[in-house]
Amino acid sequence: MFRLHVDPNRCQGHGVCLDEAPAQFVFDDDTTQARSTGQPLPDSAHSHYQDIADLCPTAAITLIEQEKQ
Ligand code: SF4
Repeated sequence: MFRLHVDPNRCQGHGVCLDEAPAQFVFDDDTTQARSTGQPLPDSAHSHYQDIADLCPTAAITLIEQEKQ
């Protein structure tokens, strides 16, 4: 399992992630940044979300591995 993380020091609110994976990101109107829902995701989806992370123009998205429960 893994989860997505948005670095608030890098995110500039471009919204690519929100377009590509609207179920996994939310836009914070106060900060005008995206943040991850933090939902655990299966390893089988790792490459899919790595591709989305690679689309972020400021490289703000990282995939954080989690121990299996
Ligand atoms: S694509 Fe990157 S910079 Fe744009 S909102 Fe998402 S995390 Fe922020």
